[in-house]
Amino acid sequence: MNIIVCVKQVPEISQVKLDPVTHNLIREGVPSIVNPFDEIALEEGLRIKEKHGGQVTVITMGPPQARDALLRCLAMGADKGIILTDRAFAGADTWATSLTLAKAIEKLEYDLILCGKQAIDGDTAQVGPEIAEHLGIPIIPYVRKVMVDPAQKKVTAHSETDVGYDVIECKFPVILTAIKGLNEPRLPSVLGIMSAKKKEIKTWGVTDIGGDAGVYGLKGSPTQVLKVATPEPRGKGKIINEEDPKVAAKKFVQMLTEAHVL
Ligand SMILES: Cc1cc2nc3c(=O)[nH]c(=O)nc-3n(C[C@H](O)[C@H](O)[C@H](O)COP(=O)(O)OP(=O)(O)OC[C@H]3O[C@@H](n4cnc5c(N)ncnc54)[C@H](O)[C@@H]3O)c2cc1C
Repeated sequence: MNIIVCVKQVPEISQVKLDPVTHNLIREGVPSIVNPFDEIALEEGLRIKEKHGGQVTVITMGPPQARDALLRCLAMGADKGIILTDRAFAGADTWATSLTLAKAIEKLEYDLILCGKQAIDGDTAQVGPEIAEHLGIPIIPYVRKVMVDPAQKKVTAHSETDVGYDVIECKFPVILTAIKGLNEPRLPSVLGIMSAKKKEIKTWGVTDIGGDAGVYGLKGSPTQVLKVATPEPRGKGKIINEEDPKVAAKKFVQMLTEAHVL
């Protein structure tokens, strides 16, 4: 079985600060990590491989330092890595990002593609579904349980919804997006870290994945960011401190009336 896991290198969010003047993210000195949902996706891929055989390829699009994210994934147990890095890919929105990943995936053999449900920095949850669209294959989003039947070439997954979960069965090839609770990702072992250095990481640019450079990166991005602003801090809440709920309710209604909400 050929399993592909899309991983994004993201800044450690808890350490990111906003520049009070420009309102831009201050990225300098902020450590990078593998997007936590992508580690869950990778863990699932590794478990499927351990149970049914096959190989796990991790793929990332980003600047050259995103190679570090692939090294961690190889140390966790992935077999090989591909980094998509090229000046032409810079400034990509989610559409151009997913197109770049899809064009690279088209060059590979694949049964299952695993993504995280979202990246903790961009947070759009668009890239997985867009890869499915570019490749013309189905997607099972927000999976919290996965069962694979390689003989029948099919996967059955529990896909979380607002009210519970759907059980969805799908033939290969298919994309799954992983949520928290699907599994607990393993930590790389010392042996894993040592052996990762010997594993293959390919570097691909536009010429390797094909297509006109104008469809990638900023040029291929239909989204235009006009302004980035920090939201106004919320005011402090008010607590109605009354023992009798009827009195509290009356005061609450009075407050809403005074605020012209009612
Ligand atoms: C106009 C515009 C310009 C931008 N310019 C830049 C820029 O110059 N530099 C920059 O870093 N960002 C840039 N961004 C942000 C960038 O488009 C997003 O970070 C990227 O498309 C992924 O979206 P997301 O973070 O919302 O991922 P989500 O859609 O939330 O991610 C879902 C899943 O998709 C997979 N995935 C997402 N991104 C990648 C990736 N890069 N490689 C492998 N797998 C991935 C992962 O499995 C992830 O869990 C720009 C955005 C816009 C709108």
